[in-house]
Amino acid sequence: MKAEIIAVGTELLLGQIVNTNARYLSVELAALGIDVYFQTVVGDNQVRLQQAIKIAEERADLIIFSGGIGPTQDDLTKEALAASLGRELHIDRQAMDNIDRFFKDREQPMTENNRRQALAIDGGTPLPNETGLAVGNAISHEDKHYIVLPGPPKELMPMFENQAKPWIMSHVLTAETPLYSKMLKFAGIGESALETKLLDLIESQSDLTIAPYAKESEVTIRLSTKAALESEALDKLDAMEKVIEERLSDYLYANRDVPIEQIIVEMMTEMNLTVSAAESCTGGLLMQGITSIPGSATVFLGGIVCYSNEMKKKLLNVPTHLLEGEEAPGAVSKETAAVLAEQVRIITDTDFGLSITGVAGPAFSERKPVGLVYIGISERNGATATYELNLKGNRETIRVRSAKAILYRLWL
Ligand code: ATP
Ligand code: MG
Repeated sequence: MKAEIIAVGTELLLGQIVNTNARYLSVELAALGIDVYFQTVVGDNQVRLQQAIKIAEERADLIIFSGGIGPTQDDLTKEALAASLGRELHIDRQAMDNIDRFFKDREQPMTENNRRQALAIDGGTPLPNETGLAVGNAISHEDKHYIVLPGPPKELMPMFENQAKPWIMSHVLTAETPLYSKMLKFAGIGESALETKLLDLIESQSDLTIAPYAKESEVTIRLSTKAALESEALDKLDAMEKVIEERLSDYLYANRDVPIEQIIVEMMTEMNLTVSAAESCTGGLLMQGITSIPGSATVFLGGIVCYSNEMKKKLLNVPTHLLEGEEAPGAVSKETAAVLAEQVRIITDTDFGLSITGVAGPAFSERKPVGLVYIGISERNGATATYELNLKGNRETIRVRSAKAILYRLWL
């Protein structure tokens, strides 16, 4: 379902008022799962308004108008729409009664032009105006839907909420077959590499969409499909998941929308394992990620932030000769990463010790480039492995990616 908003008003074009109605409607439509692909602004001119309607009909299923339904000659929205649809206008009785009552209550004479506010398009649904006089309109014509709303926000908002929204739900969205989707999460592979491996599938699919995207340093694929029956949709999604899994089994870590931290906590809980961390450049980000998962307490026992070399020596027993001197490998090195991982594992008596040390930038450190990060994974009764990462991005991205990367390694 694609929608377009047409805001009518010369004041909008002149910059005298801000188009807050379009913003309001976009937010509301998004919440209904309707995509707004275009927002148009057009002046109070019937020819140009009809042009805008014609263009909108080519690219939207639902067209929502704001403004131009008041009493004056420049209020032309209903006339323009009726002309475009080849329909007539009539006076809506209820709206007319409202207008009559309004003027009677105020003991003012009603001028003839006020009748215009009761106009409704033949065959449509009038939308009562709770806070004003001009009646709104909703109408389906051929395979398009049109909604006409008043310009003043205090009239437009309640009319949308109480009249237009229920109409959209009962007349527009019922025709839609529901959308089902499934998330696949990947570790250790970039978004573009992943897309390349699935390009033939992505290009050949028509009734199932494969959409890769990267979010918060995680790579995700959203599979989605429409079907009348849920079972039919799930079968299609499962079949595609199998095909993708065959190609990318080394990287696929979950078939639901969960962060890697959660998978690690679940895996370790199941295997009765414990983990600890020593963090330098990430300053606790890894520990924060793990402990944000409910139930992580049985898995994650504790850790140390050792930002300075002094603390690396004092708290984690990194020997001075690794950190100081011309020939020393330095704090950002696989040697230091290995000691940090091993020491934190021993100190906390856990099954795994994790470490991160690197250059998050923006400045070089130890004459090493920004983005150079070493991670260490030390296993009880096992070896200590270290990995070199060359990450791109700003300081924050490098820190987040480092914390994610070590969990991906642990998962692999
Ligand atoms: P009226 O009965 O007031 O003439 P109308 O439906 O004809 O209402 P317009 O004449 O287009 O609407 O606009 C009336 C007022 O509503 C504007 O002066 C402005 O204050 C407000 N308004 C109109 N369009 C918008 C918009 N897109 N965003 C925010 N405010 C708007
Ligand atoms: Mg007006």
